[in-house]
Amino acid sequence: MQPKVAYFSAEFGLDESLPIYSGGLGILAGDHVKAANDLGLPLVGVGVLYRRGYFQQRIHGDGSQEALYPQIDPAQLPVQAVVDGTGQPLYVAVPFGNRIVNLRVWQANAGRVPIYLMDADNDRNTDHDRRLTDRLYGGDQETRIAHEIILGIGGVRVLRAIGFEPDVWHMNEGHVAFLALERIREYSAQGVAFETALEAVKASTVFTTHTPVPAGHDQFSFELMDRYLGDYFWQLGADRDKILGLGRYNDKFNMTRLAVQTSAKVNGVSKLHAAVTKELFHKWSPDIPTQDVPVDAVTNGVHTATWLSPELRELYNQHLVYNWERHVADPLTWVKLEGIPDEQIWEAHQAAKQRMTDRLSLPNLQAVLTIGFARRFATYKRAYLLFQDLDRLERIVNHPDHPVAFVFAGKAHPADHPGQELIRRIAEVSQMEAFKGRVLLVENYDMNIGRHLVQGVDVWLNTPVKPMEASGTSGIKAALNGVPNCSVLDGWWDEGYNGENGWAIEGKTAGGRGYQDWIDGETLYRLLETEIAPLYYRRGEGQVPHEWVTMMKNSIRTITPEFSTARMVSDYWNKAYVPVAKRGARFTANHLQVAQRVGAYKQFVRNAWDRVYIQDIHLLPHAEGTLVQARVRLGKIWHADVRVEGVGSDGQGGIWKQELRPVTEYTKGEYLYEGVYGNRIEVWRQNNANVRVVPVSPDFCNDYELELTCWGTHWR
Ligand SMILES: *Cc1c(COP(=O)(O)O)cnc(C)c1O
Repeated sequence: MQPKVAYFSAEFGLDESLPIYSGGLGILAGDHVKAANDLGLPLVGVGVLYRRGYFQQRIHGDGSQEALYPQIDPAQLPVQAVVDGTGQPLYVAVPFGNRIVNLRVWQANAGRVPIYLMDADNDRNTDHDRRLTDRLYGGDQETRIAHEIILGIGGVRVLRAIGFEPDVWHMNEGHVAFLALERIREYSAQGVAFETALEAVKASTVFTTHTPVPAGHDQFSFELMDRYLGDYFWQLGADRDKILGLGRYNDKFNMTRLAVQTSAKVNGVSKLHAAVTKELFHKWSPDIPTQDVPVDAVTNGVHTATWLSPELRELYNQHLVYNWERHVADPLTWVKLEGIPDEQIWEAHQAAKQRMTDRLSLPNLQAVLTIGFARRFATYKRAYLLFQDLDRLERIVNHPDHPVAFVFAGKAHPADHPGQELIRRIAEVSQMEAFKGRVLLVENYDMNIGRHLVQGVDVWLNTPVKPMEASGTSGIKAALNGVPNCSVLDGWWDEGYNGENGWAIEGKTAGGRGYQDWIDGETLYRLLETEIAPLYYRRGEGQVPHEWVTMMKNSIRTITPEFSTARMVSDYWNKAYVPVAKRGARFTANHLQVAQRVGAYKQFVRNAWDRVYIQDIHLLPHAEGTLVQARVRLGKIWHADVRVEGVGSDGQGGIWKQELRPVTEYTKGEYLYEGVYGNRIEVWRQNNANVRVVPVSPDFCNDYELELTCWGTHWR
């Protein structure tokens, strides 16, 4: 089965000419659809055509940032209007409170993969509504909910109008999660009950969460939800409470919560990020231990061909296997890299560097170790880390034998004042006499500038507060261009760093922010002074730094395959799209038979769960460890429909689990459960051990999807 996938995203970074992305999330989406095209997957993208896009940045002499929003004309963009069956422009309508907003549909292409983009700037709408889709992340909560209604509800309607029938619906971040409501509404309109519709929708949905920062998750007040969607709720076949319940958290409607509750698979974008996400979601259902919260990891990658310099591409064409671009994700493809003479790698890099300085109007840096730092100037990215000790930095940049230059670029969201303050500080330092020509600031960071930087600098620097960088991808773009990373071991770099392909800053997580900044800054200064600069300037014959080139080669060879979107999209295919497509098909076959059964069964379990009770727990010495006994009352629930297990702390931050079996039925629905845990539990650890009951079913997408757990409370 070749599942058809609809990939919904609020941003797509396809090309610098189409400014409908702000940063990492959009670039990732763009690279995802490009990789899907390379792999020949039947995937389509769904997004918004923002008529003024994300802002263009000007930085004034005093370092202040100006945000410009030039109007973009679809006629000048690589998009075409989608037409309906009669050749007329295609429109879809979405509900906004008691009015309707009409959306035109455009198509951009990543090869053969179409990306459908909606916008409201057409004469069927009022002047006010025409401005709705002007700016990406440009407004208040009202604009935000409007964009999300357009994305989620409008997006489903576009696919229906076009006749694309997805087997899998991929939510790229919670912004797009209203798509689940619209799909429930569709079923409801066909007379399907809410619980059944919810199961059918959930069975075929995949959700990728992207931010470890709690404040980064969209939430709307119930008042706003009512105002925008009050007239829509009743069309979903359930009452308002039930629908708001799908996203309810802390008396707000949380889009991430909605996405989790309407998806069969949830993943974070690196291993570390998945672990942090488990902690975050644990707060929503405290009965589920963090370790058990069902969040997978699919680590981000980048689209190699998009980010690779032409010079290196030429070298790879000559030296790697024929058609290497089709086998990027295979580590064997990169073995032959060793055979490329150091001189040639070095020359290719120097040429890319020259191009960077030419295009970005930078001074000549050919002979100077140049370090790049480019990203959104959110404060957790800590662009200021380097400036903590200006005297020391001055000695580093003006070292008589090993001078160092830094190139900074990045936008701060117009509402992010601390972020703009950072830009001002960098501008200020760059104008100090001691740092002239050594600390450089490039304005208007976008895909084009990003590409020049990741290809042209010598080292890529990233200094986030661990673990706030969910993945990061710019360092991967640098690595595949032979630009080693010097970064905090966060996000992808925590997986990518191997001791020989760049430099690591531990990233303190204990202590206060001030202490973390100081100690991570110390590490950074020390690495620059004692390792990075000396290695770069250690030259052999013909001025080629052979040891440095070894580092470049290690970086390319170890990082390019593993952190490619070719590997990433294959992972999504195998771990998410194929199983979820099968699940969706199974749930909807025979008029949604399985969805109906599972929906009804869950209701039964929810209603009967109140009566589940654990009466006594005994931990007894046993020849093979510890005998765990519990008296469990299940009431109406059959013993085969639950899992009973001993669970305890292993004393090292993890948990142990031991499944227990029913050995005696005392009275109807009341059992003695037993199991032998293969370790002794010291007395002092016994109050860290407990017994729990969870409902299980082969039809559940995981053991915790009902978020029902009964823990023991009685002790002996
Ligand atoms: C790759 C890229 C990003 C994301 O990079 P991070 O590592 O997350 O900072 C942001 N903006 C642009 C223009 C990019 O090319």
